[in-house]
Amino acid sequence: MAHYITEECITCGACAAECPVDAIYEGDGKYEIDPEKCIDCGACEAVCPTGAIKAE
Ligand code: SF4
Repeated sequence: MAHYITEECITCGACAAECPVDAIYEGDGKYEIDPEKCIDCGACEAVCPTGAIKAE
């Protein structure tokens, strides 16, 4: 179980700043969440302006 980022990502970076475990990084054209680090807190989902972050 981990959160993930869809193609709706506009690379604003808001989510990365919120993640308490630094699981979010800028990938190729969109941000990505490292499933090994994510603790499913949901903090990133709440701040995403486009609703691009989903729970698996
Ligand atoms: Fe980080 Fe929490 Fe989002 Fe997982 S759910 S990527 S731990 S902010």
